Amino acid sequence: MKSVWVEIISGDTDLTVVRIFKSRSAAHRTGAILALMDYAAAVKVIRHQLWIRCKGECELCGSYVTESSGQMHEKWKHRGKGGEISMDNSVFACPKSHKYEHRDRNPKFLKKRLTLESDSGTLPSDSSTPGHRDNEEKPHS
Ligand SMILES: [Zn+2]
Repeated sequence: MKSVWVEIISGDTDLTVVRIFKSRSAAHRTGAILALMDYAAAVKVIRHQLWIRCKGECELCGSYVTESSGQMHEKWKHRGKGGEISMDNSVFACPKSHKYEHRDRNPKFLKKRLTLESDSGTLPSDSSTPGHRDNEEKPHS
């Protein structure tokens, strides 16, 4: 069991985890309400919250997802926030969109996208370069 510092928000009847910090110092810098809890349990709570937020639609392409088929995706993993899992930096995505978001780690998939997009002259940006993602706002369906 791995314990992590988390940010919690207290509602009327329950406590909700909204962020998992990488380290104790990162957690204390924020001034948030903190708790120490099991990592796997914290991820599960955030995943469930994301599922409720997405209302059954992939937050990247809008296609139908279920709680079990959907996947958590960290939006800003390459922007110096690596390892922090939060409601703000995560989306609930269908497997297809999730795979596309990680195309930089999947050369085969990247090649396919390059072929598809070669007509328009736009290439997927290198998301491993911090601050250089210019295609973030465009839907990719
Ligand atoms: Zn999708």
